[in-house]
Amino acid sequence: MKIVAEPIARLIEELNKLPGIGPKSAQRLAYHLLRCPDAEARALAEAILTLKEKIKLCSICFNITDCDPCFVCQDKERDHSKICVVEKPSDILPLERTGKYHGVYHVLHGTISPAQGIGPEELKVKELLTRLKDGSVTEVIVATNPNVESETMAMYLQRIISPMGIRVTRLARGLPFGAELEYADDLTLGQALENRQEF
Ligand code: ZN
Repeated sequence: MKIVAEPIARLIEELNKLPGIGPKSAQRLAYHLLRCPDAEARALAEAILTLKEKIKLCSICFNITDCDPCFVCQDKERDHSKICVVEKPSDILPLERTGKYHGVYHVLHGTISPAQGIGPEELKVKELLTRLKDGSVTEVIVATNPNVESETMAMYLQRIISPMGIRVTRLARGLPFGAELEYADDLTLGQALENRQEF
């Protein structure tokens, strides 16, 4: 016997799929949405739809954006001879927050992981190499997370980019091993960026 009306059950099921939302929170949110004014529920639904419709990847750096090229790639004030390579879009914000970096970015969308069958072909590596071909880039800063898999990624990039005559650097070792760039504090990350090292 069904005790929960189907539309409510469906919403609870969907909310329950979100990170950090357990069955109880999902239920609370669903009943909250049922009680709240129509306009409020509609605004939430529209925000979710717009997110999926309008957000795409920048065709140059592959960061998430609602305009293509993204604001960073379009910005003539930035130093386009430096590319900072990150694993995911959310790694860019902490780097920007340090205020120490004025170059452009390239998002790989993952890292090499033999265990999960992810090699360079699954990542935006080919696209990075294409950007380096015209000779205008003089430095590639590898800002991958300090962990074993990302280390493999960094070494791999260094091995293929150095022979192109481009300086390849990495963040200084100030970041604790296993830490996520995303959660690093501004000061530590800023210093890691300023004191970046050759491989
Ligand atoms: Zn871009």
